[in-house]
Amino acid sequence: MLLIKNGRVLDPATKTDAALDVLLEGNRISRVGANLSAPDAEVFDATGLIVAPGFIDLHCHLREPGQELSETIETGTRSAARGGFTAVCCMPNTVPVNDNASVTRGIVERADAKASVRVWPIGAASIGSKGEALAEIAAMKSAGIVAVSDDGKPVATARLMRQVMDYCNSLGLPVIDHCEDPSLFAGGVMREGRQSVKLGLKGIPAQSESICVGRDVEVAGLTGAQLHIAHMSSRTSLEYVRSAKRQGLRVTCEVTPHHFTLIDEDVRYDSHYKMNPPLASREDREALIEGLADGSIDAIATDHAPHHPASKDVEFDRAPFGITGFETALALGLSELVHPGRMPLARLVELFTTGPASVLGMERKIAEGQTADVTIFSTDHSWTFRAADSPSKSRNTPFDGRTFRGAPMATIVAGRIVYKL
Ligand SMILES: [Zn+2]
Ligand SMILES: [Zn+2]
Repeated sequence: MLLIKNGRVLDPATKTDAALDVLLEGNRISRVGANLSAPDAEVFDATGLIVAPGFIDLHCHLREPGQELSETIETGTRSAARGGFTAVCCMPNTVPVNDNASVTRGIVERADAKASVRVWPIGAASIGSKGEALAEIAAMKSAGIVAVSDDGKPVATARLMRQVMDYCNSLGLPVIDHCEDPSLFAGGVMREGRQSVKLGLKGIPAQSESICVGRDVEVAGLTGAQLHIAHMSSRTSLEYVRSAKRQGLRVTCEVTPHHFTLIDEDVRYDSHYKMNPPLASREDREALIEGLADGSIDAIATDHAPHHPASKDVEFDRAPFGITGFETALALGLSELVHPGRMPLARLVELFTTGPASVLGMERKIAEGQTADVTIFSTDHSWTFRAADSPSKSRNTPFDGRTFRGAPMATIVAGRIVYKL
């Protein structure tokens, strides 16, 4: 038993914002109330801290199986726990690709043995994510996948997307797409604009993403299936999502902390600024922040994409895309969104909890009988992020050395403290 005392319970699902104690028994929340006592329980004193439902990350790369030099399920989930995440969804672009039930089962078994937090695998949409034949989606669902995606690449064609959506619709799975038009992407390494010209780097126009978002929304209209846009970065993409929502389509989207924090003007000739989609324009960032605040964007997802130092420590053009993200996500949300008054704290919590949960068709709340996954954080704690101290195997982040106000203080999964500052 674990008794969380004296915290401020902030739960968007039940619209609670009050000084309450929370008692966890085994895998369940057994009581929520004022001045609870439980003589046998371990006590966590949450004075001055926020007690929220457990954070969910809809989008990460744990690199296992196959790229264990960059990350493993063990090291990645330790990093996730430090970031306050109680559950993470891992993308299927492993080696081999998670496109069949035996790979899914391998991930689930590895997670059972080694993971600090819950690991919910995402299965590939097509075999090998090659964009040709459908993967074994039903068998993967039985093995534990929570969604389908060819992340790293878009679902190759509108026709394949229609098949994937029809299939996933009948199985009740969301289809997550990494939106990009390969013909416009065409070997680019950062967002096309003044900064790409200045740095002499090949640019990718914003339309590479938004054209694909438009296509996907159209196919979602055709099929009625559930579509989720991964790591959305452009204003026009957001307009497609808003329009889809207005039409009553089941279309949701996520934004990463780096896209609401940095812009193309921040890019330096340093591969820690190389990610896909690339950092966008100032206007895009402004639009994304508005969308996060007004509910058009459903979730903040990290797209934690570890790469071991040797692979990133090369010329910008040759470096792989992606940065790590678990440990700085909440602090960036507080620093960029809440402290400057762009959104209330409760909305930020929603973007990490009920928002991602509803994309997966789940509930996330602090109430009796609910799963005992809880994230406890401070909005004030001052600290400096040191990538070298991270349990992740990788160090590829542009936020190394950045000072923050606000941090995860404890992460609780199934009633057990898996991380404590
Ligand atoms: Zn992607
Ligand atoms: Zn990704």
